[in-house]
Amino acid sequence: MKRVSCDVIQDLIPLYVEDMLSEDSRKLVKAHLDECEECRAYLNELQETSTLPPEIDITLFRKIQTNLQKKKWQAIVLATIITLFIGTLTIVFMTAPEYFPYSEEVVAVNEASNELVLVNFSDKVAGYNLNSYPGENGTGSVYHLTTWSTTWHELVDTEEITPIVLNPNEEQVEAVYYYQANGEADQLIYGNEQHPSGGAFTLPRLSLAYLSVLAGIAFIICVGMMFAVRSNRTYLERVTKITFLPLSYLFAQLIVTGWNTSTYSIVRDLTVILLVSILLYGIFWIGMKWVNSHLIE
Ligand SMILES: [Zn+2]
Repeated sequence: MKRVSCDVIQDLIPLYVEDMLSEDSRKLVKAHLDECEECRAYLNELQETSTLPPEIDITLFRKIQTNLQKKKWQAIVLATIITLFIGTLTIVFMTAPEYFPYSEEVVAVNEASNELVLVNFSDKVAGYNLNSYPGENGTGSVYHLTTWSTTWHELVDTEEITPIVLNPNEEQVEAVYYYQANGEADQLIYGNEQHPSGGAFTLPRLSLAYLSVLAGIAFIICVGMMFAVRSNRTYLERVTKITFLPLSYLFAQLIVTGWNTSTYSIVRDLTVILLVSILLYGIFWIGMKWVNSHLIE
């Protein structure tokens, strides 16, 4: 009878150690232990072999769990950013303007019977840009026009551009020039030549070139700082994070405009460049965290 009882008690002892028994069972085990040397020895042996107290076990487990969750989130965020990045690049290339050199099939200027000057676009044209300024003899306006196509327009949105009226209030139209975007002089497509001595050139705006020079200088300064703090891991990490700001910008600009930074659509280009830089920086940031968490282990 006593042997059977000892087996039962020894089955219960691990639970007794963990304090997971009901009150009655605990009393039963306690009463038995007071009388039974063999089961007391078993209890001692069990307490000695359990190396870690249970509460430390749990903290360690939680730590590992948090760490795993962190890594999971990092992976999710990284995948999201990369997806956004690829999506943005696709949109950037789909909507990048490809300027048309002048051709009568692309754009035609016509006079309507009622003094209005109409511009008609071919269905290949995805967008246009029109600027005007007062003519030299002060009686009317001079217009500068350019048109472009996009892959998006060719493949997806094939909607035609509605003709525009240059002078809705019957103003005098001195001349309309077409900007060729290929380095050649602007082409007079309507009215009287305003620059008899030589062709007019619409100059691409150079703001992006200035920005890339600024970013380049910032990058060089940052690299110098990285070199200066290279022995301090914490500082080096901080400076690296700053260094990647101008670097992301430079990469984004290279991706969006290529080596030629001249632009005729600065708002679009700058918006797109900033968007791509933010995404690139996000990839860098998560990538750095990921590398760090793997190196530290
Ligand atoms: Zn016993």
